[in-house]
Amino acid sequence: MAHTAKEHYRQIFDRRTPGEIRTLAHIKRFLECFRGDTAFRIALSINLNNPHTVAALYGIEVDPMEMLPLWHPDYRKFYGKPECSSWPLAVTWLDYIAEMERNRDLLRDEGNMPVAAPRFHAWRERQISRCDDLFGDCAKSITHPVIAFELSEGCTGGCWFCGLSAGQFKGYYEYSEEQADLWRGMVGVTREMFGSAASTGFCYNATDPMDNPDYDRFLFDFYQITGTLPQTTTAMPLKNLALTKRVLKLFEHYRCVTNRFSVLSTDQLNQIHAAFSPEDLMGVELVLQGKGMLSSKAFAGRARNEILKNGDATPLSKGDHSTIACVSGFLINMPRRRVQLITPIPASKRWPLGYRILDERFFGTPDEFQDEVQSMIDEHMHESPPSNRPIRFRGDLLYEAKRHHFLLRSCHWEYQVPYNAASISVGDLIAGGNCTTSDLVARVVTDGASAIAVADGLDQLHMKGLLEDDLDERFAWRSSEGGT
Ligand code: SF4
Repeated sequence: MAHTAKEHYRQIFDRRTPGEIRTLAHIKRFLECFRGDTAFRIALSINLNNPHTVAALYGIEVDPMEMLPLWHPDYRKFYGKPECSSWPLAVTWLDYIAEMERNRDLLRDEGNMPVAAPRFHAWRERQISRCDDLFGDCAKSITHPVIAFELSEGCTGGCWFCGLSAGQFKGYYEYSEEQADLWRGMVGVTREMFGSAASTGFCYNATDPMDNPDYDRFLFDFYQITGTLPQTTTAMPLKNLALTKRVLKLFEHYRCVTNRFSVLSTDQLNQIHAAFSPEDLMGVELVLQGKGMLSSKAFAGRARNEILKNGDATPLSKGDHSTIACVSGFLINMPRRRVQLITPIPASKRWPLGYRILDERFFGTPDEFQDEVQSMIDEHMHESPPSNRPIRFRGDLLYEAKRHHFLLRSCHWEYQVPYNAASISVGDLIAGGNCTTSDLVARVVTDGASAIAVADGLDQLHMKGLLEDDLDERFAWRSSEGGT
């Protein structure tokens, strides 16, 4: 029985025979071609009764007839249904996907740190609950890693869909002796401060790993210090093929979490398929981002601008996909020696990159880094609502007073709060937005309520993340600078 996301991930592979992995790898390749290559789809549609001839032309060695619900228009209706059991390869694939989804849930739990960093843990929990309210079904894919490191400044990619509007490339963080010392020191600090949650970290954000030719050396250090090889996501897997192969080799050795290649066009998909066998890519999810490919982009950063420019401003449906940000914690840019406290939020004019910046600091040494991180925890991660700050409900919540309780509605959830501890409704006062916490307590206590009961009620609202903590305008305008 696996206890950590990493152990669970390894078991997905270890409990299958090489032959079973190979079958999965070829199903995966079939689906990549199906979703990413119009010519492949057309060829299949012409050969619906003889699809293996098309598959064989693409080097795919599984029989598409054994997985019809995964692709055939007449059989899609059986996808995930009990009838699916008639197609063994569809079952094989769906079992694998279910395990990968379970792994994603474990990854989120991996960021828990109630003992190592209790205030950070509680703050992250509040961000998770806020994101669940705001993003609906899509929130499940946000794993809320506690830390991310950028090893370059800007990005050479220039992708039209860049959810983080990556800035122009200005250079990378070299693995010199001095810089490697700082790096290892900082990873050590995160391990010391956040315990095993540090292993949720990864080494890119509005940057692409392949812009740093030393990337694999940083990755290996991270593995040695935390015991986990971080995820690699790149939109440029062919830019430095030797480096990509080194990264995949590390993955082969340490296999901790799946990697991702963003694929920008069918041509690039074909080049990737030519450079790597289906088995090579078993640990890499190909995220199809090209126009005409069967997938959807996050409505944030440059993709948001493009979609708005083209007049299509209604991407939000069952789940709000308006961010690709995932970190609830610390984002570090190594070349600038800058650390920011960030958390996902739907992209907007105020936060166009789909994450909110709560604070930023600069540092020169691992000790300074530790001091700045600790100071941000002290300043932003309160156990109770701060007494001298305005108290309001989160901006996305609709307040409705009832006789003996009040309701708070978000896009995807409704909270019922049994809370009229005094004749002046606590809910009304918070919704009015004109009091500090201490004003509010003073008013309701004067009105006869018990100070302890009121404070306890406010703590409950705070712990559930229902109170607004975005009261600081300092960093909003700067997010337009920003860019994976
Ligand atoms: S950060 Fe990623 S998506 Fe953005 S421009 Fe660079 S490679 Fe493209």
